[in-house]
Amino acid sequence: MAAAEAHTPLDDGSDAEAAEPTAEVVVDLRGASKVFEGRAKGDTRVEALADIDLAVGRGEFISLIGPSGCGKSTLLRIVGDLTNVSAGTVAVNGKSARQARLDRDYGMVFQAPVLFDWRTVQRNVELPLEITGVPKAEREAKARAMLDLVELGEFGGHHPWQLSGGMQQRAAIARALALDPDLLLMDEPFGALDEMTRERMNLELLGIWERTGTTVIFVTHSIPEAVFLSTRVVVMSPRPGRITTIVPIDLPRRRDFETREMERYFALVTTVREALRAGEGGGSSGPVDPARRVAVEGLGG
Ligand code: ADP
Ligand code: MG
Repeated sequence: MAAAEAHTPLDDGSDAEAAEPTAEVVVDLRGASKVFEGRAKGDTRVEALADIDLAVGRGEFISLIGPSGCGKSTLLRIVGDLTNVSAGTVAVNGKSARQARLDRDYGMVFQAPVLFDWRTVQRNVELPLEITGVPKAEREAKARAMLDLVELGEFGGHHPWQLSGGMQQRAAIARALALDPDLLLMDEPFGALDEMTRERMNLELLGIWERTGTTVIFVTHSIPEAVFLSTRVVVMSPRPGRITTIVPIDLPRRRDFETREMERYFALVTTVREALRAGEGGGSSGPVDPARRVAVEGLGG
């Protein structure tokens, strides 16, 4: 990662910033709002996000949940520098989202895996490495390692259309991980999968998260999925999207099939569901307790 920005608190992280309390904050949104101005006369102006305050700590797994159209994708796109904020600020690794993108701090995974059918799976995963000029032998080895990580090691020679939906999505995850991103942004990546595959993918993703230590921001409309995966669930209200509640998920860090049978798991699902309902009722969108903006202690790395 290029250490270009002088103001970056995480640049080399060695001695100088040891006492910096925000050094472990990967994403810091403050008063972030987004308005889409209509392009033509008569177009409606859409207030998509209002006053988003959120700090994501290193190693966290954050889910964004909220009704359709509440700005979840927009929020993710703001963090990934695919769109800008209308007001407020966003910092990633202590620098601008733009700089973070240039430094390739991100990996992104979308609902439909964007794989190129004419390339093999292996060469799809190599693509970001190719673009960044990684030498052939090195990128081949890295892509193979990433395919092993998502348990597709034997399918590198296949083409995407020869894989199931779940396998394609794993290939897309492998590609997103190829550049060792600090931050994985995932927009409903399992939305198109059947329930069984989705539950398996959830476990796979948690395994990858553990093995890589990456920070994840994950958009979903599934309450159980959000609770199962996350260290914190961020609940949003309808448009303009605001954060109404942040639910810390105090389940044991190690999640498996039994997690879904735990009483605490059901209680948390209920908590999130009620928070969503309260948010949809409108009105109850007061500011988030500033104490909850920061990462829950003990979740790092
Ligand atoms: P979600 O992902 O929660 O379903 P989105 O972030 O996609 O919601 O969209 C939030 C709102 O912003 C919606 O009303 C949507 O129509 C609007 N919106 C999103 N992108 C654009 C755009 N590029 N131009 C205009 N309006 C947009
Ligand atoms: Mg969306």
